[in-house]
Amino acid sequence: MTTAAIIVAAGRGLRAGGDVPKQWRSLAGRRVADWTIDRFRGQVAHIVLVLSDEDTLAWEEFRNNDLILATGGTDRAGSVRNGLKALTHLEVTRVLIHDVARPCVSSRTIQDVLTALDAHQAAAPGLAVTDALWTGQDGAVTGTQDRSNLFAAQTPQGFHYDTISAAHAAHPGGAADDVEVARAAGVDVCIVPGDADNLKITHPEDFARAERIMGMDMDVRLGNGYDVHRFGDGDHVVLCGVKVPHDRGLQGHSDADVGMHAVTDAIYGALAQGDIGQHFPPSDPQWKGAASEIFLRHAVELAGQMGYRISNVDCTLVCEYPKIGPHAAVMREEMSKIMGLRADQVSVKATTSERLGFTGRGEGIASIATACLVKS
Ligand code: MG
Repeated sequence: MTTAAIIVAAGRGLRAGGDVPKQWRSLAGRRVADWTIDRFRGQVAHIVLVLSDEDTLAWEEFRNNDLILATGGTDRAGSVRNGLKALTHLEVTRVLIHDVARPCVSSRTIQDVLTALDAHQAAAPGLAVTDALWTGQDGAVTGTQDRSNLFAAQTPQGFHYDTISAAHAAHPGGAADDVEVARAAGVDVCIVPGDADNLKITHPEDFARAERIMGMDMDVRLGNGYDVHRFGDGDHVVLCGVKVPHDRGLQGHSDADVGMHAVTDAIYGALAQGDIGQHFPPSDPQWKGAASEIFLRHAVELAGQMGYRISNVDCTLVCEYPKIGPHAAVMREEMSKIMGLRADQVSVKATTSERLGFTGRGEGIASIATACLVKS
């Protein structure tokens, strides 16, 4: 099961004021789009960003990172269709479609939609209307409206990929959102609880409200991890997901990737969810020789399920040999790929221990790591 998110960011959004579209305006020190994209990192396998042709700077900036870019259509539905097409060859089974102008969406909402997709073809957050509703004209109340069974629609709206692709292909156009497109194709849509904080930035005053929501939300957790593996026979070691030629190998039940183990334990530590040994017991033969990215992916998924996103990790390898420096950049890239992070959120560095102790004598490699997780 592979899940992708499509973030629709091609609109011009000028009702929100300012001289650039709202997704490129600053919110709590970063652009609205940056916050929104980060909400989905680590929660889905692929992120498609749908951009207007006019946003040439954004195209240049995002072209070289891990996002998939698609061109905006003449309307929102056209943009979504282009986003869906960009996923054609990736064997995606489920897709979340999200408005870039909702940067405060929580991991809880994202996970609720994903969970509902286990049992439904389509699911989306809806906020039950609690205020009394009026109709009005010329500044006067002209009537009241029954609010029972009324919901305010939010995003991300989630669908089985083939279902929504077919629904969009068949739709004549003019739908307000993807739920309307799905329903026009006869698809039942499950409502999951919406969140009042998942606001859509529409008017100038919404920026201040979004900043307040982000400020209230600040729950930062740190975790540390420490691991050691002993040298044995071999002609290479695997460190932070990268095979490094060496005249010895590392012993261990899995692939003995001491760096990735420390990072994985740091994430488990931040979540207060034990360590690798508890989740993947070494006594269980199925983990013998296992690639350590299985462990790291599990820790990252667990963080997402518990409502945390990983802000950064820092890993230090302690050894005299092999030399880490020449491999550090590709190690960062490899781990950031596995974690669904940007490379600048992942640090890999090394130190010797001045020939002291077991690492100094070349008996093994040690690693320590720190992870910072933020509730989102
Ligand atoms: Mg280990």
